[in-house]
Amino acid sequence: MKSTGMVRRVDKLDRIVIPKELCRALEIEAKTPVEIFLDGSRIVLKKHNEGKLPAISKGGLGIVRRVDDLDRIVIPKEVCNKLDISPKDALEIFVDEDKLFLSKYEPACIFCNEVDNVIRFKGKPVCEKCIKELVKELKNK
Ligand SMILES: [Zn+2]
Repeated sequence: MKSTGMVRRVDKLDRIVIPKELCRALEIEAKTPVEIFLDGSRIVLKKHNEGKLPAISKGGLGIVRRVDDLDRIVIPKEVCNKLDISPKDALEIFVDEDKLFLSKYEPACIFCNEVDNVIRFKGKPVCEKCIKELVKELKNK
């Protein structure tokens, strides 16, 4: 699985736009049915083969939704609840063969890659630990 480097925000109706280039790669267009299931803390999207039953994941989900005319797909409420996804949250998009994976985008500290206790300073994510170290450095000057 690799990151596409693409991050998209969930809109107020729990929809996310699938980037054009990914739609093309996966042969997804308006009205294409897409299976939605969970893989740990990731949402998996896969083009649904009509006539076949959706695969039921360990998470017990095998929901099929159609992509709308603007390449958007609605993330089911139960998935949003389970993964604590709210409108305006950013999701990072990964690809693996014929599947798309959406994962909550949590910017990591620019110094140490930590994702906990990260704040934004001048537009860059920095963790608390690094800030404390910086303060210490300054005091020792
Ligand atoms: Zn850090």
